[in-house]
Amino acid sequence: MRTPLMAGNWKMHKGPGEAINFLNGLSDAVADVEDREVLICPPFVDIYALGRMLRKSETPIKLGGQNLYPAEEGAYTGETAPPMLKECNCDYVILGHSERRHVFEEDDSFINEKVKAARQYDLIPILCVGETEPQRDAGQAEEVVSDQIRGGLTDVEINSADELVIAYEPVWAIGTGRTATPDDAQAMHAHIRTILTDLYGEGIANGVRIQYGGSVKPHNVDELMAQPDIDGALVGGASLEVGSFERIVKFEA
Ligand code: PEP
Repeated sequence: MRTPLMAGNWKMHKGPGEAINFLNGLSDAVADVEDREVLICPPFVDIYALGRMLRKSETPIKLGGQNLYPAEEGAYTGETAPPMLKECNCDYVILGHSERRHVFEEDDSFINEKVKAARQYDLIPILCVGETEPQRDAGQAEEVVSDQIRGGLTDVEINSADELVIAYEPVWAIGTGRTATPDDAQAMHAHIRTILTDLYGEGIANGVRIQYGGSVKPHNVDELMAQPDIDGALVGGASLEVGSFERIVKFEA
């Protein structure tokens, strides 16, 4: 049984003041949620304050980074090292998000270095993959996603299913209000599970959570989460308001 992972990716929104208020509100809103994991991935400047709050509270909400630099420390101005995220109470880190791939031109081999660095420091990578619209129109979606997964996971050892999360995020659906149909998303998630089976065997592949991301909203989350291979959501815009994220976390499938 895979526990759904409902994650908010705040991208470059909310400074510490707003982030603290949000966490107080969300903690109350999801206090009674038991059968799903709730994660927020705020900007780096918020993480220390939120990590301290979470350490002191009973809330099961978890914290993740939106990126990392694959080194323990060093002369990398502006970057954040994996042990720094760990020290701030992060369990997860988003890697290979399409904005990192397209705006910052990260390729699979750099993302692979980051995935390895995350594992080395006991952070669970949420490896994001997804095709662009022209790639889907050209019938290349499965191949693109397969290459991104195999590239991102090259020589990455996974010993148990909870050490890895994949997020399928079709690029054309991110921040656009357009969502993959539940059937199309399910088909890609099933494809991803066959790739994971090839890489890690059936036992691990069946336990790895595969999130869907791309304009997940309160009105469409239920039908997406009803699909057998959709094990959670990576939510951008709709994770910025407590009410809409609460509704997504409390999906009914
Ligand atoms: C994302 O940030 O990963 C995302 C899917 O954004 P949105 O939900 O706004 O499409």
